[in-house]
Amino acid sequence: MNRRYRKTIIAGNWKMNKTASETKQFADELKTILPRAKWCDVLVCVPSVNIPAALRAFKDMRVTVGAENVFYEKNGAYTGEVSADMLKDLGVKYVIIGHSERRQYFGETDITVNKKVHAALEAGLHPIVCVGESLEQRELGVTMDLISLQVKSALAGVSAEKLRKCVIAYEPVWAIGTGRTATPEQAGEVCTFIRATIRHMYGARIARSITIQYGGSMNPGNAAELLAQPDIDGGLIGGAALKPDQFVAIINAANQE
Ligand code: PEP
Repeated sequence: MNRRYRKTIIAGNWKMNKTASETKQFADELKTILPRAKWCDVLVCVPSVNIPAALRAFKDMRVTVGAENVFYEKNGAYTGEVSADMLKDLGVKYVIIGHSERRQYFGETDITVNKKVHAALEAGLHPIVCVGESLEQRELGVTMDLISLQVKSALAGVSAEKLRKCVIAYEPVWAIGTGRTATPEQAGEVCTFIRATIRHMYGARIARSITIQYGGSMNPGNAAELLAQPDIDGGLIGGAALKPDQFVAIINAANQE
């Protein structure tokens, strides 16, 4: 982390978990143990149907509500989809884009990710752009090539001014939901590479200010070490973000120099 130049963001990705009532339960429990976390921003990304319940439940807490996905068209005949304007109008601030589960199960590509990033930015949302290699790609030694391609494709056509609203999440696919975490060095190396890629695209000042999260089985036991890496500015957390005590333990782990 480097709090002097950029925000630290601890974000939960609830995936397809929790009903609206469970959302309220989670918030009630979190409220009793959440520290006044001045050292980081706290974000909870919930299923779109639960966004109104989450906005109500987290209203008086320092917790921002985000979405897990968005469609890139503004409106029209796209049954079941949710637009960026709809999210913005509800009061959503952040939206996860290009999560590996969406790439794997719902056919998202670097091209659709780029369209979604533009749609989110146009609506005034902060995209959290997910990138990450599979185990096969890591073993083939093409991790950095792939990450470079994903970052460059996702941000193609995004102005420097708009980039300030973006967050990048490095999530090695082999570490998501598997209990297998990248070592701090592995995670740190890729996050440093992402920042270098942004530097080549946008210059040093912007690269220095962009928040880059790590995601992939982050938990209370490994968070401090991961967050101690200079280019890891927070976490995107699945499993451990579903339990208030574990989520808070990770928030507390971000409270380091
Ligand atoms: C995620 O869903 O973005 C994630 C990192 O999940 P987990 O923490 O469960 O690996």
